[in-house]
Amino acid sequence: MSTLLENSQRETKYIFITGGVLSSLGKGIASASIGLLLKQIGYSVTIIKLDPYLNIDPGTMNPLQHGEVYVTDDGSETDLDLGHYERFLDESMSKRSNATAGKVYFDVIQKERKGQYLGKTVQVIPHITNEIKVRMKSYQGEKDFVLIEIGGTVGDIESLPFLEAQRQMNHELGRNNSLNVHLTYVPYIKSAKEFKTKPTQHSVKMLMEYGIRPDILLCRAEHSLNKELRAKIALFCNVDEDSVFDAIDMDTIYEVPLYFAKKNITETILSHLKMNVEQPDLTTWAKFVNKENVEEKLTGFDGVLIAPGFGNRGIEGKIDSIEYIRKNKVPYFGICLGMQCAVIEFARNVCGLPNANSSEFEKNDFNVIDLMEDQKAIKEKGGTMRLGAYPCEIKEGTFAYEAYENTEISERHRHRYEFNNNFKEILTQNGMILSGTSPDGQLVEIIELKDHPWFLGVQFHPELKSRAVKGHPLFISFVKAALKHKKSKEVITE
Ligand code: GLN
Repeated sequence: MSTLLENSQRETKYIFITGGVLSSLGKGIASASIGLLLKQIGYSVTIIKLDPYLNIDPGTMNPLQHGEVYVTDDGSETDLDLGHYERFLDESMSKRSNATAGKVYFDVIQKERKGQYLGKTVQVIPHITNEIKVRMKSYQGEKDFVLIEIGGTVGDIESLPFLEAQRQMNHELGRNNSLNVHLTYVPYIKSAKEFKTKPTQHSVKMLMEYGIRPDILLCRAEHSLNKELRAKIALFCNVDEDSVFDAIDMDTIYEVPLYFAKKNITETILSHLKMNVEQPDLTTWAKFVNKENVEEKLTGFDGVLIAPGFGNRGIEGKIDSIEYIRKNKVPYFGICLGMQCAVIEFARNVCGLPNANSSEFEKNDFNVIDLMEDQKAIKEKGGTMRLGAYPCEIKEGTFAYEAYENTEISERHRHRYEFNNNFKEILTQNGMILSGTSPDGQLVEIIELKDHPWFLGVQFHPELKSRAVKGHPLFISFVKAALKHKKSKEVITE
């Protein structure tokens, strides 16, 4: 990817990431995630990790205490966060990317022995801080963004020279070129059913005592923080309200960049730095995260149902899940949106139409799910979907017929988008069965796949006609198929 700024005009922007309240909040992942988002806008990015401990490097440290040692191409033994940086940014780190307080002191003391400071008293400020600043600036002019993660927790004695170097860098670079991100913790007290902001307030207060004003707060919390709570944190911590973000626990670390992107963190970063606001392209990353996830999440399920829904949230994950379900022959029941997603998945991955989509999510030339002409004319949203009971004719010899034991049924609808008949031929030629249609054949109501134990999607809502003592035939068939699937696995494992 070409970078947005040419070398000659590049004014490197610095983002400092500190941590407060307690350790292990995930500064490394937060740094790697922000780095990835900036890279996906098109900027060149690198990350430097500065560790306040006195070991020269982590090579001699017990991994149980400090985590595994990471090794770079140039043979340096480094902090494990460099592994996160490399995996997220897809860039190789080097010995310039990590330094400990021990290494900094060692270099200063060696210089002192060689006489490089002859005549001077060697002091933490400016000699140690200058040595730290040399490391902080080692990519100056080479990268658009340098993220500097300062290890440890604000308040630790050994972090002080690093924070002082950060303060000096802030001053030298000015507010348009340097930005301070502080990662803190907002505990949830179960008995009081309340989040507590005091530890964050204290952590920021301490940071400000060192002369560092945070621009952005990332608040690690068990659950999302509502607007009032974020406003309270902003008020007490001297930060803009829209610069307080929650950073809640994710199932996998790879979901963190997607969460930050959803919260528009790059917009806030770029506005603070007075840069043009642009959105990162996370298509490939989201695909990777979903694929990571899909197998892990769906292994072991005997049947999967995708329920009705509106809007594009989570659609790509649903489509990736359907691909797994189709290929692994897990019984599938798609209701309304669940049927539409199944059609999109089949068009993309079986019919060779990679851009297939519903016009509800993306308007293009491959809208296998689209608005009907009469829906296009509709201006008012309320009460104008295809609503209520419509007749449907069922083809014999299908899963649907097996369930209903009838060729004529009536089911209730509530949706705006429909199967697009322009793609009927390619979908059916590739094996999709249109097992239920309106009597005139114009509206596709049920789709199925053959060579599968039970794969069925309905445009209507069977749940609306399922009764307490008389379950809907499609639900009964689906559950039966799931039980059969479960049994077949037991036979295999025995
Ligand atoms: N959003 C889709 C539509 O309007 C599906 C609606 C639904 O699942 N009820 O067609």
